[in-house]
Amino acid sequence: MIEFARTELGSKLAENDRRGSFAKGDWERCGARGVLGCHVPEEYGGAGLDAVSTVLTHEAIGYGCQDNGLTLAIGGQTWSVQEPIVVYGSDEQKRRYLPPLASGEWIGCHGVSEPEAGSDALSLRTRAVKIAGGYLLNGRKSYVGMAPLADLALVLANSDPAAGKWGVSAFLVERGAEGFRQSEPRPKTGTRTNPFGDLVFEDCFVPEENLLGGEGIGMSLFTQTISWERAFIHAGHLGAMTALFERCLAYARERRQFGRPIGDFQSVSNRIADMKVRLETSRLLMYKVAEMKDAGSDAAIECAMANLHIAESLLECATDAVRIHGARGYLEEHGVERQLRDSIGGVIYAGTSDIQRNLIASLLGL
Ligand SMILES: Cc1cc2nc3c(=O)[nH]c(=O)nc-3n(C[C@H](O)[C@H](O)[C@H](O)COP(=O)(O)OP(=O)(O)OC[C@H]3O[C@@H](n4cnc5c(N)ncnc54)[C@H](O)[C@@H]3O)c2cc1C
Repeated sequence: MIEFARTELGSKLAENDRRGSFAKGDWERCGARGVLGCHVPEEYGGAGLDAVSTVLTHEAIGYGCQDNGLTLAIGGQTWSVQEPIVVYGSDEQKRRYLPPLASGEWIGCHGVSEPEAGSDALSLRTRAVKIAGGYLLNGRKSYVGMAPLADLALVLANSDPAAGKWGVSAFLVERGAEGFRQSEPRPKTGTRTNPFGDLVFEDCFVPEENLLGGEGIGMSLFTQTISWERAFIHAGHLGAMTALFERCLAYARERRQFGRPIGDFQSVSNRIADMKVRLETSRLLMYKVAEMKDAGSDAAIECAMANLHIAESLLECATDAVRIHGARGYLEEHGVERQLRDSIGGVIYAGTSDIQRNLIASLLGL
């Protein structure tokens, strides 16, 4: 898989990053190679792999091509679009949506966040009103990865405001649905190859058969299936950071100042040692959660710990990489600064680091 990623993906990464373009051809190649359907059952067009194998595959893609926007799209679709459909979808929904998502023909996105509902995600204002044959959706989702390009949006909306967060339901909305608008990409700091934007619903009719898992399922969907995303969304990014670590190690050996390789200076070698520890502990934590999930555990605290530790480790490693490379690290042309920009979002999406800490504390009974 590493060889596939090296030779067939990421050929226009620098240019796509500058333009904020998504590598659709790479996406389709990933679909054809089985990357997008790793965790989808075989009967619905996937490979039916377990979580450990899926995470290893995503990590290998990130290591081989280092397009963090692409791997974020792969992880996002795998864990926050396909997984909820696998868990909560009817047979008809699985047959309609999983094969084109797994093959790369379609792109899926997951719309939860709103301008006024971020960390407090279930306080969302998007409403779904029951009418004959379906629901009318009104509201706006913001900061949604792949929103401008998505063919399918899994969207949370409240169908029973009196019930508060227990009234949240999940809907599958297809591109082109009447009253459904997808914004242009919104320029952002990092993961620019993963355009993100808004999903706007203005009396958007969603047929009854596109309600996912029954009314009021949103709370359960959010807390259960989102834990998969929380734990594994950084898998590809971890692969990219491994490649960056190896690059830093080589650079510390070859770059000479004061007549010696910079790796001889303890300030530099300490950074390399810290990067190694962060990478190894991140990888071990992610594999542990994957094994626990495969064994049927919900691994709630482990998912939050993995998200927190990996996201913060990636950001620190990327900062160290820029320091180790000096001005070269700051220059666009070497790609090191891109890793830093790409790492920043990780402490925000799938729940900020603060929210992961809150979750860990509450699961510890505090
Ligand atoms: C690159 C990227 C991709 C994204 N992709 C998606 C996507 O695909 N789908 C989607 O729905 N959303 C997506 N998001 C949105 C993301 O989920 C939200 O940004 C995130 O949940 C935080 O919400 P917010 O930005 O409104 O910040 P806020 O919730 O307003 O938080 C602002 C600050 O306050 C802190 N804070 C808030 N509440 C608490 C608390 N209780 N305790 C401690 N600190 C707190 C936060 O940690 C943060 O530091 C994405 C965001 C980014 C950056």
